[in-house]
Amino acid sequence: MRVPYLKNFRWKDIPVKEYKTEGTHFRDITRQILFEDPNLTCQLRYFEIEPGGYSSLERHQHIHSVMILRGKGHALVGTRVVPVDTFDLVHVPPNAWHQFQATEDVPLGFLCLVNRDRDRPMLPTERNLQELRQHPEVAEFIKV
Ligand code: MN
Repeated sequence: MRVPYLKNFRWKDIPVKEYKTEGTHFRDITRQILFEDPNLTCQLRYFEIEPGGYSSLERHQHIHSVMILRGKGHALVGTRVVPVDTFDLVHVPPNAWHQFQATEDVPLGFLCLVNRDRDRPMLPTERNLQELRQHPEVAEFIKV
């Protein structure tokens, strides 16, 4: 079965959902589930962060395999802040803190492959934040 591409990173009959994770702090993100099937143990989603927006700062046991499809920005992975650009691949290892932020001028869109069955994201405690802020570039970057 073919699902035609429309335009502007939209696909036919794939709903554009608000990105919501209870209690987390994020801004201006949409989510589309591109592949999901009982016979697949993973899901492929497309997320889009509006200019100046960001995903929640979180960590969890499951990993993310990300390909940037649109725009550019920066990502925190573990204790490092890296620039991300179109077609870059980003690996988020188990339990690594992560947050994606779009630049101010263009949306940041990316594919994210995850396990279908996965643990719930954990948000940073005050103590976690203190530890993260020991790293100056991380302190300057994170939005919580
Ligand atoms: Mn995550």
